[in-house]
Amino acid sequence: MTKNDKKAKKHKTDRGRLVKVTAIDYQATAMAIQLDLISSRMIEDAIDRNELTLVFQPQNCLETNSLFGIEVLTRWNSLELGTIDTQHFIEILESSSLLLVKKFHEWLLKETFTQMSLWQDLGLSVPVFINFSSRYLQCKDSLSYILYLIQEYRIDPHFLGIELTETAPITHKDEIFFVLYHLNMLGIKISLDDFCTSYCSLEYLCDLPVDMIKLDKRFVHGLVDDSGERRVAMTTIVNHLITMAHQLGIKVVAEGVETIEQLELVTAMGCDAFQGYLLSRPVVAPILRLMLSNLVTHKMSYYPACAA
Ligand code: C2E
Ligand code: CA
Ligand code: CA
Repeated sequence: MTKNDKKAKKHKTDRGRLVKVTAIDYQATAMAIQLDLISSRMIEDAIDRNELTLVFQPQNCLETNSLFGIEVLTRWNSLELGTIDTQHFIEILESSSLLLVKKFHEWLLKETFTQMSLWQDLGLSVPVFINFSSRYLQCKDSLSYILYLIQEYRIDPHFLGIELTETAPITHKDEIFFVLYHLNMLGIKISLDDFCTSYCSLEYLCDLPVDMIKLDKRFVHGLVDDSGERRVAMTTIVNHLITMAHQLGIKVVAEGVETIEQLELVTAMGCDAFQGYLLSRPVVAPILRLMLSNLVTHKMSYYPACAA
């Protein structure tokens, strides 16, 4: 290699590094600006201005290779700030006033039920899982409002599920558990999201009528990506979580499955269902309908990823 070649190579590498660093910096700065700018007031305006939309991600049953359920996820395309990261605006929402939490969940329920009744009319009876903040369930009239909407939209409660994530320890436990028991008695499934990664306590398994736990993507990825002792520890924990859940009659859904290797592992370990980019990214309703109506028996194959 001549002196000039070496110089050219060094220049190229430096440029590559510069481009990479700049891209990461730009992303971080854009996120920080977004976070700084987002306020509870903006979330409220976003609901009023119809800037929030829903996307849907299918879950596949590992035993039958058929559709197990669909998770509903919210997206925010802000006129001023562009696409807002869902995780971040949900965090802001959860620390907002109870009034806004209520307003958001009422919007979420109505939008989801509108979609569910359309699917029902098309003869697609698909279990649909909504992400709920437990703070909504502590609102006085949340139970009566959910019951009213179920009637209004003629929703079969057996096709409805609630995914609970805890970003903070549950307060008003008695009120919230009362609502969850009532909903579960109607046939609504209760699922604990991001199980064992946040405040979601093992005790909930004793106190709540849990139908499902969701194995967080950090566990799923750790089974393959971690090495040495960490991987052994991860495998042991996941094996025990699955055994414990099954002994309690609870199903386990693995989330964030992106590769065949991860799918084979969670299958071998006994998970009941999975979701993740390997099956499909979250998609808008018309795409999901197309995917489902193409599958007469709802048998799932690995869809080309079409993002939303
Ligand atoms: P979550 O409930 O754990 O949802 C799964 C997240 O992982 C979603 O991110 C989904 O798009 C993403 N995901 C799905 N498959 C894969 C995969 O194979 N690989 C990777 N890396 N990611 C995957 P999203 O939509 O950004 O949502 C983030 C979080 O925001 C959700 O985490 C949930 O806690 C919360 N969230 C989203 N929508 C709602 C909502 O309507 N209500 C409430 N209360 N929370 C919501
Ligand atoms: Ca979830
Ligand atoms: Ca999760």
